[in-house]
Amino acid sequence: MDDTVTCPYCGEEIDLAIDQGGGQAQEYVEDCEVCCRPMRVSVSASDEGEYAASVSRLD
Ligand SMILES: [Zn+2]
Repeated sequence: MDDTVTCPYCGEEIDLAIDQGGGQAQEYVEDCEVCCRPMRVSVSASDEGEYAASVSRLD
């Protein structure tokens, strides 16, 4: 599944692909596909199995 997040650096909306096989709580670093700066991605799943991503700056 995908979620849409807003890059904390350039403000562009990005579609992130969420790998549900990675578990219900994930954290990793991914480069923004627009400005190529690295951001921390946090993925969490609700009890209903809905996955949501949020992003924050690394610094
Ligand atoms: Zn960006």
